[in-house]
Amino acid sequence: MSINTDNYLSIKEELKKENVTLIAVSKMQEISSIQALYDKGQRDFGENYVNELVAKHEPLPPEIRWHFIGHLQTNKVKYIIPFVHLIHSVDSVKLLNEINKQAIKCDRVIDCLLQVHIADENTKFGLNEKALEELLDASKSLMNIRLRGLMGMGTNTEDESKIREEFKTLKHLYSRLSKERPECNTFRILSMGMSSDYKTAIEEGSTMVRIGSLLFGARNYNK
Ligand SMILES: *Cc1c(COP(=O)(O)O)cnc(C)c1O
Repeated sequence: MSINTDNYLSIKEELKKENVTLIAVSKMQEISSIQALYDKGQRDFGENYVNELVAKHEPLPPEIRWHFIGHLQTNKVKYIIPFVHLIHSVDSVKLLNEINKQAIKCDRVIDCLLQVHIADENTKFGLNEKALEELLDASKSLMNIRLRGLMGMGTNTEDESKIREEFKTLKHLYSRLSKERPECNTFRILSMGMSSDYKTAIEEGSTMVRIGSLLFGARNYNK
């Protein structure tokens, strides 16, 4: 078990002032660490892999709100739809259609964020503006989807001004769509910022940050 309680409490204080929601990113972390953070009061947790999320969801308290933040494959959607709280990483019409289809089967309406590509690395997933507009058009007929906003990841760089520009771009897009497109009048969430850049993200208008290593320590990828 490993959590950094001091970091957790100080980040929580910081975010409360700004009215920003904290997602504790628990990928590759042990059940006992998640439980320990839950016992400190944390309720929103984020996972990247379907198999891992399904396995962890089972033994942990049902009060946890599970956020799916990783790349989601269409054939795995059905495993998380019965219980997922918010999907941050919708990046294609095909995926959105499948989420809608599985949501109908479970008689749920699923809250979704559209993942926008803002970094200048082609390793990160996400929509460009044109694909985003097409997806918004396609979403109009999907009654079991509720679009809640946008998610983005900044470039992995030490250059803070570059990350800041990327977050500004995403915030502008978010504001424009919220104003101009009726499908976006349910937008309330701008998910941007991780351990290394969450302060910048909040300054640029983030309403939800996804923080892992500052809360749990470094992830052990060899486990
Ligand atoms: C892993 C991950 C995070 C958290 O990263 P940290 O640097 O540990 O805070 C946030 N968002 C996404 C999409 C991730 O995959």
